[in-house]
Amino acid sequence: MTTDTKIPPFEATPLDKIAQYAANARAAYASQKTKDVEWRLVQLRKLYWGITDYTPKIIAALKQDVGKAFNEAMLTEVNFTLSDLNLTLKKLKTWAKDDTNLDYPLTFTPLRPHVRKEPLGAVLIIGPYNFPFMLNIAPLVGAISAGCTAIIKPSESAPAVAMVVKEMVEKYLDPGSFYVVTGAVAETTALLNEKWEKIFYTGGPTVARIIAKKAAETLTPVTLELGGRNPAFVSKAADLALTARRLMWGKCTNAGQVCMSHNYVCAEREVVDDFIKHLNATYKEFFPNGPKASPDYGRIVNERQFDRIKKMLDSTKGKIVMGGESDKSELYIAPTAVLVDSLDDPMMIEESFGPIWSIYPVDNVNEAVKVMNKVDPTPLSLMTFGSKAENQQVLSSVTSGGASINDSYMHGSVSTLPFGGVGESGTGAYHGRASFDCFTHRRTVVTTPSWMDKLLRVRYLPYSAKDLKQ
Ligand code: NAD
Repeated sequence: MTTDTKIPPFEATPLDKIAQYAANARAAYASQKTKDVEWRLVQLRKLYWGITDYTPKIIAALKQDVGKAFNEAMLTEVNFTLSDLNLTLKKLKTWAKDDTNLDYPLTFTPLRPHVRKEPLGAVLIIGPYNFPFMLNIAPLVGAISAGCTAIIKPSESAPAVAMVVKEMVEKYLDPGSFYVVTGAVAETTALLNEKWEKIFYTGGPTVARIIAKKAAETLTPVTLELGGRNPAFVSKAADLALTARRLMWGKCTNAGQVCMSHNYVCAEREVVDDFIKHLNATYKEFFPNGPKASPDYGRIVNERQFDRIKKMLDSTKGKIVMGGESDKSELYIAPTAVLVDSLDDPMMIEESFGPIWSIYPVDNVNEAVKVMNKVDPTPLSLMTFGSKAENQQVLSSVTSGGASINDSYMHGSVSTLPFGGVGESGTGAYHGRASFDCFTHRRTVVTTPSWMDKLLRVRYLPYSAKDLKQ
């Protein structure tokens, strides 16, 4: 393990190098070497050692970019990625095998139909700033496992992690097959001007539209991992102390900059006051000296995001019922809950993507379902804390990318479960087996024995009426 935590200063990749990197990645794929599963396993093992060797540096970079505490950085970035990688190392040989368990009429058995798992080719991975290590490396694990070559473009808003990821990938992985391009819009645009066999994008919907349009020009498939205005439901059947603690965890992690965290809570009117009491009790429990003094609580990534979140708070007509403090000089915003009474409130309309959320009182689960379908019919995640029947009603009446019952985004905290959005919150899924599938083409192959020609005469011209009966 390296004890060196010196992070190279941020430097964008020269624009004139990007086309060459892309050509190299395509040539490396065309060389056929990535088709060998052993070669992929070697790359994955090297990546494993790269991550473990670089852990202190990754942790230092995460602290520098988003103020992540050690425990959080280990849990949500390093260990999360390693656990996904370990499963892939264990299962890859099985996943890569031909699939013969297919459905077809018995007559076609002699064709020995099977599906070969083929890599898509050279792929582009574009990452966001909030989990800047995991959200670049987890898709890379999928790309390597499937036999793709790849270029990663980390977010310029997490510049320290971007440089550490670049150094690690260049040091450990096959040169020519894997690159990290650093930079912002100009560099991403240059990358998008290249031909890819898949673009894997994590980020906001505005940029997703730019990427999807660009990909459409060359009919390049895309996986889009986006966000949404994620709802939570809390009913009188919930254990309010537990619910408050779990929802607070969801919004304190990474200072709420989590795509799956709740944007608003539909709480049954009669438990709203108690729920708020429990939220404030948890606030005190999590932060005995206040969140600002806590070494465990992170910061907003930059001034632009700070201003955006602060504007939501400043323009709400709701009442702050927990937290509320902020300090721009430290990019600090306390975990903040706002009681609102209108669906038009900015706290209900915008994606918070920060430590603030609203509480919207509802009469019952029926009203909650109506509100959820109105506010955002296809959020990335959904959380429900009700009776068994209420939870089932919420689950079946409101769609979402993933869902957790009786918890905040636990469904996205298990690193090997398929994860992805639906509708406006994204398309495609990854992690675990889904990451392998995400970068794999399922190619159907049959072999028609020569002796079958007699049986197949029905397809040959000239057609004869006696061969086919109605
Ligand atoms: P973003 O869309 O601003 O940036 C993501 C990436 O796009 C960066 O690498 C950036 O350099 C690039 N980019 C920015 N502008 C571009 C342009 N004009 N052309 C080409 N590329 C461009 O996203 P962000 O602010 O880093 O992340 C926040 C958003 O991401 C939120 O909406 C959140 O919900 C979503 N998100 C989703 C997931 C998920 O897994 N579904 C995870 C994290 C974040």
